[in-house]
Amino acid sequence: MGFTFYIGELRVFFPYDSIYPEQYKYMCELKRALDAKGNGVLEMPTGTGKTVTLFALITSYQWVHPDVGRLVYCTRTVPEMSKALEELRKVIDFRVEVLAKERKLDPGNEEAPEPTGLAAGHILAVGLSARRNMCVHPEVSKEGDRERVDEMCRKLTAPWARDKPQTRCGHFEKYESSLNHSSQLLETGVYTIEDLREKGMESGYGWCPYYAARRLIHSSSVVVLNYQRFGF
Ligand code: SF4
Repeated sequence: MGFTFYIGELRVFFPYDSIYPEQYKYMCELKRALDAKGNGVLEMPTGTGKTVTLFALITSYQWVHPDVGRLVYCTRTVPEMSKALEELRKVIDFRVEVLAKERKLDPGNEEAPEPTGLAAGHILAVGLSARRNMCVHPEVSKEGDRERVDEMCRKLTAPWARDKPQTRCGHFEKYESSLNHSSQLLETGVYTIEDLREKGMESGYGWCPYYAARRLIHSSSVVVLNYQRFGF
């Protein structure tokens, strides 16, 4: 499933077997804006696969121009955020698969060790939402009101609360100690809010997904967030 094609000198990894003319045109214009390091306002009809088009072109561009920077993609709701990240995962999985197949076919690569992480075509991408959607603290996460969750969290993570074991959040403490012991909280991959929450509840990780996502933004190629969080 999927194919690769060129727009000028850029090889685009597209995870579906066919592409609409609107998608191809959108990619050409997007590439033109990136090449010019300029601004662009692009429109595309509803239901023509804007998300995959954007992710395929931009991640292919990042692959050959790592200095181009990070893509910040905004959605209205958390389910839309997860859907977008699933689409991104398809694009990246396809790229990793194609690159792995090509390495196998290259006789010069027989002795070379199999690359991993970024070198294999993976990226780091995370979703970021409000504490209310990301918190894994047993009591705080039950609270539905956004402002109340923020307030409860601040009370557990304030310097004076952290002095006493009974008033601090274990997930925040785990986050802080992970930062002190490793340069990277997560290996490369595409992580939805649900994936990050799962990591926050896994014994090997256990950190606060909200603070971890905020931190991971700095090493991510793609960040997907709510419009409300724009500016982080
Ligand atoms: S630090 Fe994270 S897990 Fe702990 S209360 Fe705040 S948002 Fe929840």
